[in-house]
Amino acid sequence: MKTICPPEQCTGCALCLTLCPKKCISFKEGKLGHLYPVVNEGDCIDCGLCRKKCPSLSVFEKEKPSKAFATWSKNEQIYSNSSSGGLATQISKCIIEQGGVVYGSAVLPDIVVRHIRVDNIEDISKLQGSKYVQSNIQEALRQIKTDIKRGIPTLFIGTPCQVAAVKNLFKAVPDNLFLIDLICHGIPSLNLLKRYIRKVADCPHYDNVRFREGNQYFLSVYSGGKVVYHKTLRNPRYKEWYINTFFDGYVFRDSCYACHYACPERISDMTIGDFWGLGRKASADMIPAHPKGCSVALPITDKGYNLLQSVSKDLNIYERIVDEAIEGNDQLQHPTILGKRKRLFRLLYPVFGRVSYKIAIIDKYTKYQLKRILGKLK
Ligand SMILES: Cc1cc2nc3c(=O)[nH]c(=O)nc-3n(C[C@H](O)[C@H](O)[C@H](O)COP(=O)(O)OP(=O)(O)OC[C@H]3O[C@@H](n4cnc5c(N)ncnc54)[C@H](O)[C@@H]3O)c2cc1C
Repeated sequence: MKTICPPEQCTGCALCLTLCPKKCISFKEGKLGHLYPVVNEGDCIDCGLCRKKCPSLSVFEKEKPSKAFATWSKNEQIYSNSSSGGLATQISKCIIEQGGVVYGSAVLPDIVVRHIRVDNIEDISKLQGSKYVQSNIQEALRQIKTDIKRGIPTLFIGTPCQVAAVKNLFKAVPDNLFLIDLICHGIPSLNLLKRYIRKVADCPHYDNVRFREGNQYFLSVYSGGKVVYHKTLRNPRYKEWYINTFFDGYVFRDSCYACHYACPERISDMTIGDFWGLGRKASADMIPAHPKGCSVALPITDKGYNLLQSVSKDLNIYERIVDEAIEGNDQLQHPTILGKRKRLFRLLYPVFGRVSYKIAIIDKYTKYQLKRILGKLK
């Protein structure tokens, strides 16, 4: 069987499916529901384009950011509805106000999570909030090429491996393409999420799914405009299995554990994420309270820096030491580590779904119980 890149390196970016001149590559479900490309050998003409353009087989120029900023939106509504500081939303708004288009991840009915093209301010809200599941960018890759050809300022926001795919659409990054990558610790599959949701909230249709509000992490499922399932990360007793196994890194693609982009050197115009570790390297006393979290902005290129400058009037923004941002965030240092417990979970899950979730959580739950007992004794 023809392989494009070794499956353990495949990020599922769909660039090979998009570029194949014979359209003879399709996705097949693999371990833990992630999608992997399969070549229909009968139709393949061996042009080699899929391998030539595959981001996992490419070497990208990377650069360490020279500046770091802690930032959050001054707009209360944007700040509240965003994941950390609402920086992605502020920049998206700015690009659209300049006549541009934005590509970002949205949850569509029946929990289809994919990147959509947004060209008006109202629809930016569809992109707000982190979707802790892999977002399909296949259609977006096609549309981006057209927008770029038309000369439209085009912003793409996604995980670093998705940014790599967008970069490989072109020989050199066009002037009208702006790339922002999210600090990412790994990505579960949509199939896994959907199966899980069907178990915990059996409904004929689902409208939406949400994972986070500021520093609160949860899984909320909506059907007919109502919440039909809601559990937070910690309560009750770490029993929200999806969000816990996501957080602890049990359910990612194989490639996430050897991620090429989980390092201080970046491939986009700007990296954004949560500013964990703010105040560790220098006093943060002069920074006002930001109860719903704060974004880190790491501009890499001049384009990225100018983009940040152009929205700075709408932001609370404070320059920080780059190493503070890097040292506070594991994913800016190394990929998620695949330890023994995770390996066991991944081995068991396809046969013993529910049991394997329990094994994954048992450690956390035991610690939680011990703490509770100790608390009572005190
Ligand atoms: C799977 C995943 C893992 C993450 N892991 C970390 C981490 O370990 N450390 C850290 O500091 N930050 C992590 N983040 C980033 C963090 O959750 C926020 O997305 C980031 O801080 C931007 O916040 P914001 O308020 O500026 O975004 P908002 O204004 O809320 O906008 C959200 C933006 O994220 C994009 N987006 C949402 N979900 C996805 C997705 N599934 N795939 C691609 N793009 C998406 C949207 O298109 C939108 O542009 C992760 C994000 C994701 C999606």
